[in-house]
Amino acid sequence: MGQEGRDWNWTSGSGESVRIGYVNPNGQRCCGHRGIRGTDHGQYAYKVECIKCGYVYGANGTDMHERQCPQCGGGAPGIPNWKT
Ligand SMILES: [Zn+2]
Repeated sequence: MGQEGRDWNWTSGSGESVRIGYVNPNGQRCCGHRGIRGTDHGQYAYKVECIKCGYVYGANGTDMHERQCPQCGGGAPGIPNWKT
């Protein structure tokens, strides 16, 4: 099992901004979810990767289209449970 979930199966969400491979205007790429709930009601915890600095974190599907990188973009910290 990969430390950052690279060996796991990832699923696209329903909608343009939560598809695997989607990159939002802030350079944050959606890597899909594993069926784990996020911190927002009815949302999945998505794996997100920053294409600018490579930082990997978790985000709710509702935030995906406007997410900023927690490390280089001044965004909110990622949610912690995306890979548990
Ligand atoms: Zn970044």
